[in-house]
Amino acid sequence: MDRRTFLKLTTVSLAGLSPLAKLELLHAKGISAEQLGTSAPAKGFVLPRSEAITISLSDLFKVGPGPSSSHTIAPLRIAADFLQALENLPTETIRPAQALEVRLYGSLSATGRGHHTDRAIIAGLLGEKPETCNTSLMDALGDTTKSYSATIQGKKFTIHHGMIVWDVVEHNLPFANTMVMRLLAADGSSLFEREYYSTGGGFFQWKGQPPAQRGKPLYQYNSMESFRRILTDHGKTLDEVMLANEMAIMGVDAATVMTRLDLIIATMENSVKQGLAEEGLIPAPFEFHRKAKLIYEKSLGEESASRFMKQLSSYALAVSEGNACGRLAVTAPTLGSAGTMPAVLHMMKHHLNMPQEALRSGLLAGGLVGFLCKTNASVAGAEVGCQGEIGVASAMAAAMLAHASGADIDTTEVAATMALEHHLGMSCDPVGGFVLIPCIERNAFGAVKAYNSYLIASTELTSQHWEDLDRVIAAMLQTGQALPAAFRETGAGGLGSSMVNC
Ligand code: SF4
Repeated sequence: MDRRTFLKLTTVSLAGLSPLAKLELLHAKGISAEQLGTSAPAKGFVLPRSEAITISLSDLFKVGPGPSSSHTIAPLRIAADFLQALENLPTETIRPAQALEVRLYGSLSATGRGHHTDRAIIAGLLGEKPETCNTSLMDALGDTTKSYSATIQGKKFTIHHGMIVWDVVEHNLPFANTMVMRLLAADGSSLFEREYYSTGGGFFQWKGQPPAQRGKPLYQYNSMESFRRILTDHGKTLDEVMLANEMAIMGVDAATVMTRLDLIIATMENSVKQGLAEEGLIPAPFEFHRKAKLIYEKSLGEESASRFMKQLSSYALAVSEGNACGRLAVTAPTLGSAGTMPAVLHMMKHHLNMPQEALRSGLLAGGLVGFLCKTNASVAGAEVGCQGEIGVASAMAAAMLAHASGADIDTTEVAATMALEHHLGMSCDPVGGFVLIPCIERNAFGAVKAYNSYLIASTELTSQHWEDLDRVIAAMLQTGQALPAAFRETGAGGLGSSMVNC
């Protein structure tokens, strides 16, 4: 029996069954004990959660200020959304209003200070948008004693750090990262409020939000398996399906999609170059030095193998160090993991001399992997740990490199699968709640694993490869759900605990 047949036949959860019951179930499916052998793995495959993927590349690859997509970009977007909602309220609701209040729950409360959540909220209420955000203003907003003024429907409100309440970390709200924004009357009663959820990668939604008005994807898929079926049934390439869907979902033409891809590539490239040019300390309550520039410069005198590894690592470090300083970066899929894809992309452009068309194609493949992980598991460290950030970034980068190199869909899938698989179980344990330790170095390791995954996938016989992307994504979700809260971006476990308490 070949690998795919076995996996299809065992697409049921065997977890919790006795060995005898498992054999009986498999026998009922026509699989004998002899066919299984003695080492057949038990599969607990969780089926995809969504009907059809409707995320766009613009949603996944967002440009914004660091250091965190879930804790900086999303709160900035949320505050901007709330500001817009206030502008649309009836005048009689605004008239008695005296103040604004923001309550942070879960990981947002536990690690928000280190992630500049408070600065992002104030910036959003002052009218800033992620892509054009004034990073100097973000630096200035670090002064918690200063107050600002915002005018909403002609009425002035004071915007200051005191309006942000760092509420409970443990809670029963539906999402780990919850933020409640309120418009208050003079007696403190709420005139208008929204409960927002930061769902990872800079995405957010609010309680009771109507479904977004956007187009339907031309090709409907919710797993790698169904995506591959589209390629076969319609005789299409990965690029054709991804491009057609992006155009249908966003209601734009092909040229607009290409312009967007070029912006993403340019921002990633700029973040590598800017990071390699800077040195010194990263703003933090403890002394933390940049090292990307040093490692790159040292690599120039090295033999080829060491030079390659050091340069690839330095590119990832450069972006992540800039991200920690609040520079603009691209969520890929998050800002904590923003260094992994640009490092591989920079290598593709400057070492492998790939043309712009190949880089765009690579982004489409990376985007596909990001969509699948976001839809069927999560890309939020607060939900599934660092496997959902660096693990997914590494898988996206591996798919990008494979596809842009001209690999077939089997090799592209195996490269992504391997990169994700070998991050399974990785917890999110930022020291002090800052996107520094272990985050910055993890990006370098994510890039190295991505490259290695491509090298192995493009050399082995992929028909003999056991694991597939859908099942590894399911394993990531299951593993993430089993992680205690201390290991999901609360800074209370792992390095976040041992580095602080020792
Ligand atoms: S440990 Fe990983 S998931 Fe957690 S903040 Fe750092 S990069 Fe993100």
